[in-house]
Amino acid sequence: MKNITTSAGLTQAHAAWGQCTLVGAGPGDPELLTVKALRAIESATLLLVDDLVSDEVVALAKQGTRIIHVGKRGGCKSTPQRFIEKLILLAVREGERVVRLKGGDPFVFGRGGEEVENLRAAGVTVTVVNGITAGLAAVTSLGVPLTHREHAHGVVFVTGHAKPGDTGIDWHELATTAHRVRLTLVIYMGVTGVAHIEQGLLCGLPHSTPVAIIQNASQPGQRYVVCRLSELAQTVVRENLASPSVMVVGDVMQGLLALQTTQQPLRVVAG
Ligand code: SAH
Repeated sequence: MKNITTSAGLTQAHAAWGQCTLVGAGPGDPELLTVKALRAIESATLLLVDDLVSDEVVALAKQGTRIIHVGKRGGCKSTPQRFIEKLILLAVREGERVVRLKGGDPFVFGRGGEEVENLRAAGVTVTVVNGITAGLAAVTSLGVPLTHREHAHGVVFVTGHAKPGDTGIDWHELATTAHRVRLTLVIYMGVTGVAHIEQGLLCGLPHSTPVAIIQNASQPGQRYVVCRLSELAQTVVRENLASPSVMVVGDVMQGLLALQTTQQPLRVVAG
């Protein structure tokens, strides 16, 4: 099916179709939603909810909204992507206002791009609403800037989890560049492969480079630990840090590391 918008708007055949909005649900704290996201959630007739979207955000839907969880909640396998897209297509054809809620920002990892491409190819007009990505929220919650004129000239958001069959990130190369150019690295989906990541990063960054690992950023159960790069894997294991967590590598964390080594270990912050 061809894209159905024309310069005059929707063709007659699709005029009665509903709409689909891909909405960034942010890192969990409902107060971090954008006004646009909140309005979309409140006006939805069907809400398709990914894993990592907090219950507090879902609770903002109006009574009577149909809510379907399509993530891995309750230990079940997540709903196949194709099935979700079919569901959206059918609902849009029925005239529903579908909101697809994705954690953080829909276009930062989480395969939002693929979903939009497929829906557009099926003739669905999709709008996308930004959310605050987990890495941003995590670092800000510690009162630390991602960039700083003294410490970091830029920031890289990177996944620690490669697509099956893909070799993934060249950590050595990335670390060398980050060191030379002075970049902060924000690693998503990295805790499972932390030993491999640490090894690779140590080839290009000093052992003493500070790293923060932040779990459940912006949520009541938020925890974080700051350590040196050479202690990263052992810290993750010792502190039992698990998904969802981001790891933030770079000199912007120096202040926090100094605090942690001179005071009590900082582990829990209010959500
Ligand atoms: N689109 C999302 C990222 C999806 S990938 C975003 O923009 O945030 C899933 C990964 O995001 C998790 O494995 C974890 O690394 C990170 N993540 C998501 N929510 C998080 C949270 N509340 N705290 C820490 N990390 C989180």
